[in-house]
Amino acid sequence: MSAPALALDDVHRSYGDRVALRGVTLAVAHGEVCALLGPNGAGKSTLVGLAAGLASPDRGTVRVVGDDPRTPPRQVGVAPQEIGIYPTLTVAQNLRGFGELAGLRPRAARARALELAALLLLDDLLDRRAGELSGGQQRRLHTAIALVARPPVVLLDEPTAGADVQTRHAILEVVRTVAADGAAVLYATHYLPEVEQLDARVVLLAGGAVLAAGTVRELVAAHARSAIELRFSDGEIRHIGVDDPAPELPAVLAALGDATERLAAVELRRPSLETAYLALTGDGSATVAPEAVPA
Ligand code: ADP
Ligand code: MG
Repeated sequence: MSAPALALDDVHRSYGDRVALRGVTLAVAHGEVCALLGPNGAGKSTLVGLAAGLASPDRGTVRVVGDDPRTPPRQVGVAPQEIGIYPTLTVAQNLRGFGELAGLRPRAARARALELAALLLLDDLLDRRAGELSGGQQRRLHTAIALVARPPVVLLDEPTAGADVQTRHAILEVVRTVAADGAAVLYATHYLPEVEQLDARVVLLAGGAVLAAGTVRELVAAHARSAIELRFSDGEIRHIGVDDPAPELPAVLAALGDATERLAAVELRRPSLETAYLALTGDGSATVAPEAVPA
C-alpha cells in the first residue's frame, strides 16, 4: 500500500490558551475525497492551515506526500475559507500569475488557466477584473487558483459557502475531476448533501478532536436514526426518533390524543448523513470539553 498523500499524526495546535486541535490523526489517499465536517470552531480551518504548511503544529506531525508541507517544493493547493485573489488583476492574470508562482512556465500556466476557466464557468470572465466579479464568481476563481499547479494534495475550505447552484455544481464536478486524476482532496464543508453526492469519506471534528470517521454509509449505519415528523396546523413541529418509522407510526399517532385534531402532516425521515451528524454533534456545540493547554 502506498503512503497517504496527506497524513496528520497526533496533531495539536493552540492559539494562546485556546486549544484548536487536540491530537488529530487522519490520512487522505491519492485519488480520495475526504470531507472535513464539524460545527463552527471545531478546528477545520486550523487543520487546513497546518496541512497547507501555513502554520506549524505545536505537537505531532503533518506530512504531504511524505514531506513537511513547509519545505519546498510545495505539493499543496489551498483555497482558504477567506477568498484570496488579486482584485485589480483580471481573472486570466490571476490564474496565470498563481500558476507561474507555483512554478509553471508561462505557456503551461496559460493553458492551465484556460482549462480551469472552462471547468469553473469562468470562460466568459477571463478579461474581467477579479474585484468586479460576483461573490460566487470570485469563489470559483479562488477555487481554480488552488488547482492551477495540479497539486497532488488539494485543500478546499468551505468552497461552496454562499455559492449559487451553478457554482456549487461546478465546484463539485471539479473536485471529482481532480480526484479522478489522482489528487487527494480535503474538503471542509457544512453542506451535507454535497458530501453524499461526492461519496466522500468523512472526518467529523468537534472541539478540536475527531468525533467520528468513516464512509457516509458507515456513519449513517452507526449513528443515524429514522424519525417521524409531525406537523400541526398551528405550526408546531415534533420530531420523534424511532428505529423503524412505518411499524411505529400507529403507536405514535395513538399517543397523540386530542392533538390529533391539529395534525396537518406526517413525514417519515430516513436515516441520512444529516441525522447522523445531528446525533453526533447534538445542538451544534462542541461535545469535547475544553481543557487547559498542557504545560
Ligand atoms: P472551524 O474552521 O472549524 O470553524 P477554526 O479552526 O477556525 O474552526 O477555529 C478553531 C478554534 O480556534 C476556535 O476556537 C477559534 O476561535 C480558534 N481560532 C482560530 N483561529 C484563531 C486565531 N487566529 N487566533 C485565535 N484563535 C483562533
Ligand atoms: Mg473554518
